[in-house]
Amino acid sequence: MVSASAAAADAVIIGGGSTGTSAAFHLARRGAGKVFLIERAAVGSGPTGKSIGIIRLHYSYEPLIRLAARSLAFFSRFEEITGGTADFTRAGFLLLAAPEQMETVRANVELQRSLGVRTSILTPSEVAALEPRMHVADAGGAAYEPDSGFADGYATAASFAAAARRLGAEVWEGTAVERLVVEGRRVVAVETSRGTVATPRVLVAAGPWTPRLLEPAGVRVPIEATRQQVIHLAPPPAFGPLTVVLEDMIQAFYARPEAGGTALAGVLEEETQEVVSPDAFNQGADWDFVERVGQRWQRRFPGGADAAVQGGYASLYDVTPDWQPVLGPVDEIDGLYVAAGFSGHGFKLSPALGEALAAEMTGERPEIDISAFHLSRFATGALIWGRHQYGILG
Ligand SMILES: Cc1cc2nc3c(=O)[nH]c(=O)nc-3n(C[C@H](O)[C@H](O)[C@H](O)COP(=O)(O)OP(=O)(O)OC[C@H]3O[C@@H](n4cnc5c(N)ncnc54)[C@H](O)[C@@H]3O)c2cc1C
Repeated sequence: MVSASAAAADAVIIGGGSTGTSAAFHLARRGAGKVFLIERAAVGSGPTGKSIGIIRLHYSYEPLIRLAARSLAFFSRFEEITGGTADFTRAGFLLLAAPEQMETVRANVELQRSLGVRTSILTPSEVAALEPRMHVADAGGAAYEPDSGFADGYATAASFAAAARRLGAEVWEGTAVERLVVEGRRVVAVETSRGTVATPRVLVAAGPWTPRLLEPAGVRVPIEATRQQVIHLAPPPAFGPLTVVLEDMIQAFYARPEAGGTALAGVLEEETQEVVSPDAFNQGADWDFVERVGQRWQRRFPGGADAAVQGGYASLYDVTPDWQPVLGPVDEIDGLYVAAGFSGHGFKLSPALGEALAAEMTGERPEIDISAFHLSRFATGALIWGRHQYGILG
């Protein structure tokens, strides 16, 4: 292990979630010199490790569709590329919509298909044929992606970090970055709990903790930490396991299969965000939330009505004003990059984003243009809205 007092790196990445570990892997894979990944706790221990990990391509904004599609291709070959596992399960993804939502869904499906995505519109009876236990009388139809599914946040981050290490990166866990050192208008080092690391390039991928690292350097990023709850349901044995990932826009609810025939479920509600301190929030699930989600589950799956609640937890979204991440270089400080503010949908994008960020940090133009996500959009008012957007799903 490198001694911190003598450490120097070509690039430092702060934060060992899915974003930071992917960027570290892609930088190391590019042969971008000595790469350091610095994580305050353990790799994947933040919101990444609590992620539901749904991987879908249903977006209404072209760069996000491209990033999600490239990432899905990566998840599909994750073992071959990284030598580790993301625990990707190709369960299929169903976006269930009310009759009045179908026009928007159709427009988005058309947009996605024009970009090469395998997706189609299902009628309510086609949905019922795919998942006969689902109540569809209130639905106008669904968008269906047979190739999508879910993966595991912790496994993904741990595998990216291990692969980066095999490619020569230093991975420092249990090490907090305390300060960015800026001279003139250049980043020159990071001060950590293990000493200083000199470096000309820093990527801050610290999720909800990003503002507190950037603000002392005079950089303001509009990210709020919001509390997000998840419940773990065990449907009655006669119901059998859930087989498809469901995002139910009629009830603003999602459910996805989990090991042992169980399911993870939560809500898709933009309006009920609970802003919290990322260091002091209730990490359990509230009883009224459990009841609310249980009722939506039961309405959608009447045969699963007596599901037992096996547990629940809460973690954090890092939310920006337009629910889109902040990506790329920071204008005011040379060598400083940011990738944060994923607003609850960053996991599925992480393989392609790490690739794009690694390209930018080594002076190359990324294959997928991420410039629209630049921090300056909040000052210029060029916020990101999809062509046919429906709230939290983007
Ligand atoms: C309940 C829940 C469900 C979700 N479901 C989905 C989903 O279905 N699909 C999807 O695509 N996305 C989903 N997301 C969002 C997705 O998980 C996140 O966008 C993504 O994992 C964020 O990864 P990250 O690497 O940017 O940040 P994080 O996971 O927040 O990692 C940041 C890391 O930085 C570290 N850190 C902070 N400060 C410092 C410091 N000073 N020094 C060193 N290290 C530091 C932290 O310890 C942390 O490990 C969900 C999130 C949650 C919470």
